Amino acid sequence: KVSPLTDLQIASQATMKSIWTIAKEAGIPEEAVEPYGRFKAKIDVTKLAESSKDGKVVLVTAISPTPAGEGKSTVTVGLADALSKLGEKTMIALREPSLGPVMGMKGGATGGGYAQVLPMEEINLHFNGDIHAITTANNALSALIDNHLHHGNVLRIDPRRITWKRVLDMNDRALRNITIGLGGPTQGVPREDGFDITVASEVMAIFCLATSLQDLKERLARIVIGYTYDKEAVTVRDLGVQGALVLLLKEAFKPNLVQTIEGTPALIHGGPFANIAHGCNSLIATNTARKLADIVVTEAGFGADLGAEKFMNIKARQGGFSPDAVVIVATVRALKMHGGVPKNQLAEENVQAVTDGLVNLAKHIDTIRAFGVQPVVALNKFITDTGAELEVIFEWCEENEIRVALTDVWERGGDGGIALAQEVLKLLDEPNNFAPLYDVEQPVSDKITAIVQKVYGGLGVVFTEQALKDLKNIENNGWGILPICMAKTQYSFSDDPKILGRPEGFTITVRKIIPKLGAGFLVCLTGDIMTMPGLPKTPAALQMDIDLQGNAVGLM
Ligand code: ADP
Repeated sequence: KVSPLTDLQIASQATMKSIWTIAKEAGIPEEAVEPYGRFKAKIDVTKLAESSKDGKVVLVTAISPTPAGEGKSTVTVGLADALSKLGEKTMIALREPSLGPVMGMKGGATGGGYAQVLPMEEINLHFNGDIHAITTANNALSALIDNHLHHGNVLRIDPRRITWKRVLDMNDRALRNITIGLGGPTQGVPREDGFDITVASEVMAIFCLATSLQDLKERLARIVIGYTYDKEAVTVRDLGVQGALVLLLKEAFKPNLVQTIEGTPALIHGGPFANIAHGCNSLIATNTARKLADIVVTEAGFGADLGAEKFMNIKARQGGFSPDAVVIVATVRALKMHGGVPKNQLAEENVQAVTDGLVNLAKHIDTIRAFGVQPVVALNKFITDTGAELEVIFEWCEENEIRVALTDVWERGGDGGIALAQEVLKLLDEPNNFAPLYDVEQPVSDKITAIVQKVYGGLGVVFTEQALKDLKNIENNGWGILPICMAKTQYSFSDDPKILGRPEGFTITVRKIIPKLGAGFLVCLTGDIMTMPGLPKTPAALQMDIDLQGNAVGLM
């Protein structure tokens, strides 16, 4: 970043409207607004007036990113502000930040520069307690399972075959594999366990795909927690605790209303990662925004091979809507990285590397078109970009008939997104032929192969022995008709994070397939992807503090 002000400083200087004003402007009646302080509110969707409106959905995705992120959240916010400026009734639907990346690498997930959602530090830290509620519901289930084992184990659950794990919303590698219940007969039944990060949990996925509290409860009941000594699946319904779990999630399930620096309303709700989970905000927030606004700008995590693929094949399919336009965020620095430049030299001009890196963008464009939706490239401008570097991208887009707009919302807020907004409005006027890339009725291996070939550009899939066993178990139980949620590195189309650009001729190794019946998908673990990340050598946490007045310092 070259700006004299940090994101946090820009956010602290902004003047916010009262959340009542934001709600009124968004068309939300007073009785549906439950304020959490002066600038945040939960929305009781059952109190919203019936509406036949179904706003159009603009999905923001990106090319394969650098570790810092290419600015999807920033562009999402800036594009919505630009659309508002052009007089369109617009609402944002975004994911809630996880404390893992906030403390680790990324430092925050509320946009950047003059395109941010507010109050920035509260959204980044504990935002209305939703992720704590999800963590608690998950861990309540763990406690209830261990309690069942301790008090006689009527269901005959095999402690060695419990697949349900505890969770924590932090990157904490030391908790990946643990032993519990040590200390003798009064301390529980000893067994191996482990922690995942909350945002990779099935409860988070369920929370983000449920359409109502009743649906949430039904989905929780369907969770498979493990197997009996006879290898029969055991569900939450067998334990009879879905009622308790849904009760723990009741308030969290209401979408959170906040505002951008320019006063555009935003619903921020649910936050699964896109590399190890399905990567989009809650369906209930997206649907609520579509009832209130004519255009909903939403984001799916990481590159189009991950978040957007799952948005289309999982969320849009389950939600019964189609994305009307897709924005692919690209940056000169990420293109240079795909063109072979080491990460510490991305700020230096290198026109050839930008040109070489365009293959990565080209593949993501092909993918979006394969879904029958038209993309526009948002070239997210950084102060370090040179005229020559930007020029080659525009020339390439023109030669290949690709819509593109230079986007400068980080420096200029909505004004910097007008060109992009105009392109998006053109796309929204055109018909689209959205269709998921595979049919859920196809065999599981065919569905995975379809993703590998059509989205990653690879040859096919290799299953490890464990994955083949998992496949057999899934087929024997009749779970094969679910869509697929790939867990793959965000850095490469392949399962090796070091292979950048647009690799060809590779295969993807699936090492484990985990049925998530509540979420309604099958998670395929590829490569070395971890469901509990670790913190980097120099975590963002080292810069964080409070000042003498108690304000946050060092959030990025
Ligand atoms: P993503 O959603 O793709 O992960 P973010 O929008 O969170 O990316 O942006 C990642 C970081 O990059 C943020 O700290 C943001 O302030 C910064 N950033 C985004 N766009 C720009 C830009 N054009 N110039 C400088 N910094 C930017």
